[in-house]
Amino acid sequence: MANKELHTENEALTPAAVSLIQGQIAYLYKNKTLGIWSNILLSSILTLFLWLHLPDQHIPLLIWYGLIVTLSIVRFLMGKSFKSEKQYTQIELTAWANRHVFFTTLISTIWGLAGLVFFPSDLAHQILLILILFSVLLASIPTLAASRIAYYFQILVTLLPTISLLFLSQDNGHSLMAGAMIVMAITLILISNYIYQLLFELQNTQLALQDLADTDQLTQIANRRHFDRKFKVEWRRAMREKTPISLLLIDVDFFKKYNDTYGHQAGDVCLKQIADTMASITHRPADLASRYGGEEFSILLPVTKQADAMMLAERLRCKIEGLQIEHSRTDIGVVTVSIGVSCCEPAWDFTGNTPEEEQKVIFPAMLLTAADNALYVSKERGRNQVSEQGCGDHKLSNVLRKQAKEDSTKAEDIAE
Ligand code: GH3
Ligand code: MG
Ligand code: MG
Repeated sequence: MANKELHTENEALTPAAVSLIQGQIAYLYKNKTLGIWSNILLSSILTLFLWLHLPDQHIPLLIWYGLIVTLSIVRFLMGKSFKSEKQYTQIELTAWANRHVFFTTLISTIWGLAGLVFFPSDLAHQILLILILFSVLLASIPTLAASRIAYYFQILVTLLPTISLLFLSQDNGHSLMAGAMIVMAITLILISNYIYQLLFELQNTQLALQDLADTDQLTQIANRRHFDRKFKVEWRRAMREKTPISLLLIDVDFFKKYNDTYGHQAGDVCLKQIADTMASITHRPADLASRYGGEEFSILLPVTKQADAMMLAERLRCKIEGLQIEHSRTDIGVVTVSIGVSCCEPAWDFTGNTPEEEQKVIFPAMLLTAADNALYVSKERGRNQVSEQGCGDHKLSNVLRKQAKEDSTKAEDIAE
């Protein structure tokens, strides 16, 4: 991503990068103090001085001041409708960034006009005007978080009218002043470039660290931490948008025996092959295959119905069997997996309640419990198979599970 704008429409960014950009844009809109200081306060100071200095320009001065204040308020109100807790898509974020850039550039253009229309005749007021223009540009530095080019353009539109006017007046003093402004503008560009590079490096480091923290080092797929976070986000989205959400829990069969027979290193290679197969069957960007822990994996499938999740699970089971990884201590001689599938459809009415009432009694843990129960059933039925359980059926299944446990304890007691 090096040397590109922080927000871009052309490149599909990773979810981590999108959330980072969301943070930057939220910061851009939250930064109200700077926006108010740079525009309302500085334009008030300039208007006050010019009001006394240019008695015949009161009306244009008032119009100019009114424009700056109005546009600043509009930008402020627009920023208030940006909800940092909401999850925006990359396209929406680009639109928000562009809106900010548009308003800031418009405000800069109006500042630039001040130099052209109200250029004072005495040196003290001229210096005041120039210093205020540079102050406005310094206060606009956060625009760099949205676009570096936009900031350079703002420097141009704010300073060019005054610099041109000074050069065109063909006065030595004015030419000197214009030269000084160009030197200051170049300094500002160099500083802003440096800040931008710094921001970019920080952003890349943050993304690399996040990637490392979210990836399982053995299998190179998402780890449990990543799964937990994504699960919460997708769960909330499913409840909000009333879309189904499915979960697959996958457990390698007789893996302890595999390790005992072929060694731990071969076990690691086997886990990697299984992880690669999982990653290869998930195609949608929102799907997430992760290592849940040890030899257990999970696949989260947002906006996926139970029947489709079952189909995918069966395909995965077949594909892993088809890898033909030798395992002499299983019935069929190769490594297999057992899979538990569950699905929650928030709009479902499986207890006779209205969807609104139903929502209150659905918790994320229910989806996990249901998938875990289904996995247990797959194991109980002889492994290398797929079982399913609806999200609300967990109570019944828990009873069955408890019963099975009691039965096996009794059997052990009798054996002793
Ligand atoms: P079941 O069919 O009932 O799932 O039996 P199992 O042997 O697969 O299940 P169990 O929970 O008894 O054993 C899991 C094994 O997975 C034990 C552990 O050594 C192995 N394992 C867990 N993590 C890793 C790992 O990172 N690498 C290797 N090689 N083995 C692992
Ligand atoms: Mg296990
Ligand atoms: Mg196992």
